[in-house]
Amino acid sequence: MKLEKYESFGVNLANVRNAWETRLIKCMNEVLPEFADFDYCAICIQDVYALAMNHLTPKYVQQGTVLLKKEYTDNDFRDVIEMAVEKVLNNPNHQ
Ligand SMILES: [Zn+2]
Repeated sequence: MKLEKYESFGVNLANVRNAWETRLIKCMNEVLPEFADFDYCAICIQDVYALAMNHLTPKYVQQGTVLLKKEYTDNDFRDVIEMAVEKVLNNPNHQ
């Protein structure tokens, strides 16, 4: 990725991230093993991540920002991941 595309007036904006990214990844690590048919290929993992992220209203924050109120519960994350896994299993983007 071209870093200058993520700069404005010399300030790097690549560290302004969607706050749900790391929580979603952590939850994916827990939920994916519950699906015996999941193949763990890069395309499927990326598809699950993208599909699940697209179901959450984004909240962009500077990295390291502590969020005081939890807008999504762990169960919300689990629900969107399960939905995304089922979608990918039924209609994989590889082959
Ligand atoms: Zn796959």
